[in-house]
Amino acid sequence: MSAAPVTELPWYLPKQPARTTTKQITVIGAGIAGCTAAVALKRRGFEVTIVDRHPQAGSEASGNSQGIVYPKLSPRDDALPRINLAAIQFCSDYYQPFWDRGLGQQCGILVVPESPKKVADFALISQRFADQPDIVQSVSKQQLQALSGISLSAETALYFPQLGWLPPALICQQLLENNNIPLLQGDIHSLNHDADNNSWKLNSSDGQTIMCSETVVIASAFDCKNFAQSDFLPLRKIRGQITQLPSTAESSQLKTVICGEGYFTPAENGFHSCGATYNKDIFTPEVRDEDHRTNIEQIRATDSRLAATVGQPPIENLTGRANFRCTTADYLPIVGALPNVPEMIEDYAILRRDAKTVLETRGSYLPNLYVNCGMGSRGLSYAPLTAEILAAQIAGETPPLERELLNAMHPARFIIRDLKRSRI
Ligand SMILES: Cc1cc2nc3c(=O)[nH]c(=O)nc-3n(C[C@H](O)[C@H](O)[C@H](O)COP(=O)(O)OP(=O)(O)OC[C@H]3O[C@@H](n4cnc5c(N)ncnc54)[C@H](O)[C@@H]3O)c2cc1C
Repeated sequence: MSAAPVTELPWYLPKQPARTTTKQITVIGAGIAGCTAAVALKRRGFEVTIVDRHPQAGSEASGNSQGIVYPKLSPRDDALPRINLAAIQFCSDYYQPFWDRGLGQQCGILVVPESPKKVADFALISQRFADQPDIVQSVSKQQLQALSGISLSAETALYFPQLGWLPPALICQQLLENNNIPLLQGDIHSLNHDADNNSWKLNSSDGQTIMCSETVVIASAFDCKNFAQSDFLPLRKIRGQITQLPSTAESSQLKTVICGEGYFTPAENGFHSCGATYNKDIFTPEVRDEDHRTNIEQIRATDSRLAATVGQPPIENLTGRANFRCTTADYLPIVGALPNVPEMIEDYAILRRDAKTVLETRGSYLPNLYVNCGMGSRGLSYAPLTAEILAAQIAGETPPLERELLNAMHPARFIIRDLKRSRI
């Protein structure tokens, strides 16, 4: 019998199957992406070590006191909203034990429309999910008050009953502690493959090899750009700041997270977290008053009555936290095996001339080297799912999502896309 005709370029299939002799894996980066990946691998029987430049997990982007498990749905049906839906369904189960233990709150999220276009989109979304009220419901003004516990100016909203907020740093720390995953402190400067020993050397800036590992997962957010093997990834570093707003008698009645132009959490220890700003070309980690003003303005734009509940606290007395998102132009995370970029470009060069060419050539990948990054503004929502995708791939299991969606998050997508557009 002849083989089935090739109808799709098999760039995502590796030419050489991964050769592993040990079950030893090192994850670089102890943010939510690295910690969820480490746990997904550990649960599959791998011996996992995580290494971070800080002594504690969740010290950078995943370090805010309150992070929202943000639901971004759309009336469209392309890869982004389908992945977002899969991500929130997966992560609400994933975080359930944490919520049950009192970490954060599964308090529900109310998303209020920011524009007439959003009102129309929300109507379409609520029609689509009419028989799945556990995922999302459209709510009336009366329901809004009952759910949120306060009076809001919004007339309608989408309500996500199974979502809420979490303390990301504590989640990272508990993921490691509860699964006995050791965290080593080390700033990894470069990676070299030692073909004789089939292992990666993790080196410090002075060239010393800190550790060796057969399989490595890079989960160092924007700092994936510092490794020669992942510097081709088109990542952007976007600063963001949250503001801690002191709660008042009225605002402390808030029971749900409110999202719109910005987000606003129920009070925790006397403060609401409100955010966040997007600063493209500012790289200071210092907290800035002008960002506090932006956050307060965003809350006012989200819902003027909500903003009124916290009054007008003096800006100079406010506290907050700033850090950096690692974003991608298509708003999707990056998860999977790292390609051998020069070989892949050579193998698929013909795509520059004919984007529709279908070759039988499989993709070239670096031995046992993977990435999990590009979480953008939704790391809490994406990370549990991308960790599962990654661990299933490394363990040779059936992936938890369909191929089209996996490819939409694949690290090699940028090379194939750029060749087809003759950009490389
Ligand atoms: C102000 C702000 C508010 C946000 N609010 C939300 C929210 O409400 N909900 C939400 O889902 N998301 C939110 N985000 C986005 C979220 O924080 C990120 O998507 C998420 O934290 C990314 O996780 P990560 O593990 O990829 O990165 P990080 O948490 O940054 O982890 C990367 C880790 O890698 C380590 N590292 C880097 N390079 C090296 C190296 N060379 N050697 C050793 N270690 C290294 C770092 O020390 C760090 O610990 C917000 C972001 C900001 C900035």
